[in-house]
Amino acid sequence: MAACDVLYHDPAHAGPGGAWRPCSARGAVWTDPDLVLRFVCDKHRRQLTALHAAGLADRIRWARDGLAIGTPTHTQGGSPCASTPPAST
Ligand SMILES: [Zn+2]
Repeated sequence: MAACDVLYHDPAHAGPGGAWRPCSARGAVWTDPDLVLRFVCDKHRRQLTALHAAGLADRIRWARDGLAIGTPTHTQGGSPCASTPPAST
């Protein structure tokens, strides 16, 4: 069974690599708002949802990469990316 992919901060067990510990709880499939499939436990799923809602998704650390299943920027009738090069030359 897949374990939770989240790394959590545990200062009580800080080692040479820091205090980030893998979560050993059993994970269930969860798709984050960026359309990446993860395995997360119940407890962390709630925390992750809250972090994403607060715009703090970059604070999350993962034991392994998730599986991207889509492009979150694909919105109906949306404007194209703001990466259009300037019309110079
Ligand atoms: Zn967890």
